[in-house]
Amino acid sequence: MRSRRPLSVNNSLVHGICNCNCLTCGVNKASYRGPREYQPREVTERLISRVEEAAAAGIRVRYIANSGDGEPTLHPEFRRRMDLFGAMLRNWSASVPAPEVSVVTNGQRLLSPGVLDAVAGNRLTLIVSFPTTVAADYGQLMFCRPERGVVTLETVKAGIRRAMELRAVGSIPRLCFHLSPPERELLRRGFPATMQFLTSEAARAGLGEVELVLFPATSNRSGLIRSRGSSVDFYPDLFRAFNGRAVNGVRLNMSISYRRFFPEVWEVLDLVRSFSLPCMWNAHLFITAGGDSICCNDQAVRAPRGNVLTDSIASLMVRKEAHLPGAVCAACDQRPDRMRGGLAVTVFSLLARARLTLAMMRARAGEAPTGEPIPADAKENAHAQENLVLDVTALRIAARLGNQPAAFLPRRNGSLSGEPVALLPVGGTGRKSRLGVADSE
Ligand code: SF4
Ligand code: SF4
Repeated sequence: MRSRRPLSVNNSLVHGICNCNCLTCGVNKASYRGPREYQPREVTERLISRVEEAAAAGIRVRYIANSGDGEPTLHPEFRRRMDLFGAMLRNWSASVPAPEVSVVTNGQRLLSPGVLDAVAGNRLTLIVSFPTTVAADYGQLMFCRPERGVVTLETVKAGIRRAMELRAVGSIPRLCFHLSPPERELLRRGFPATMQFLTSEAARAGLGEVELVLFPATSNRSGLIRSRGSSVDFYPDLFRAFNGRAVNGVRLNMSISYRRFFPEVWEVLDLVRSFSLPCMWNAHLFITAGGDSICCNDQAVRAPRGNVLTDSIASLMVRKEAHLPGAVCAACDQRPDRMRGGLAVTVFSLLARARLTLAMMRARAGEAPTGEPIPADAKENAHAQENLVLDVTALRIAARLGNQPAAFLPRRNGSLSGEPVALLPVGGTGRKSRLGVADSE
């Protein structure tokens, strides 16, 4: 395992079963063909023992989120499963810090018997996905049906009030709101009203701060749903207007979701160094109800890479590090080498593209495992060809990462579906020129 970052684990306690039908989720869409199951007890227990084994070996898991591709509070043994995580935290003896364990919920069942008790009783973090207080928009985002918003929103608001009361007396150690799924216009439109609601309820409960996490990227769930735009939006306008400000006497503490998983710049660089495809959504463990390790966008579990029942945390990560794009990645609008956004995103995307290029060159040369087999279908090959549209800057970065001379570009026939990539010497122009494969002939 090359990664040196603290890891995160997203545990899909319930997979493919949900009481919502979010606009940006494939689970309840007619086209969904993935598993629909509650996590068996042996998988939860094994996951916890894997985390403990990893900690004993010095591998730190920073977060475990009971979240995933389904609503965790729907699990028939939700309370008892949270008790397992609570016992892990109480008995933690490793030298590395214990993980922060959370429940990420859509909030529909916060007031159902035992749900908040399970969170509070085990000292877990509670994260509520709460995109807006505009009823029609809430219905549209969470059910694809605006008319569903009025009733369900009131249910969620009541649960949030109770959660804030528990947070205020310290029964819940941390309460956080995910402004997700990020349908940006709806999120922006309702933001002031949403802040009014959260801060007024927080003030009533006696809280001095509300913690918010915004999601800057939308996802097509690796092709399961319609793409809603691949550019990254860090919401600079919302941060300027609200972050750190007091509304109703309550301070708003806003952050971007990336910062939770990569709080330090070196962790992003470690991702680029360690992963053949430095994909942020593949950089942590995402465990399905059945124990499969997937990337967080592979909701239908089309490309599992090991299983927690048979593989250690370290070996699951090794498989992720070796992963090269296959059919699932081909349909994904969150590939790091295709990310679009501001300067930081462009630099990251360029680094990711360079790293991927280097890994593919090594794989072709037989120096490295390729992870998922590279499919030969035409669609994937089209994407593969696209990836071979390199620019000189990217290739030079790749060369530096691999300590190899930057003197090659792939020829037109550089296909990833079978035949070896032929390499062509390139004159160093020093300028950033986009050279398509045709240009390299
Ligand atoms: S995003 Fe979460 S809450 Fe929404 S439908 Fe999917 S699993 Fe359910
Ligand atoms: S690029 Fe591939 S590994 Fe990354 S999120 Fe998309 S499907 Fe998953």
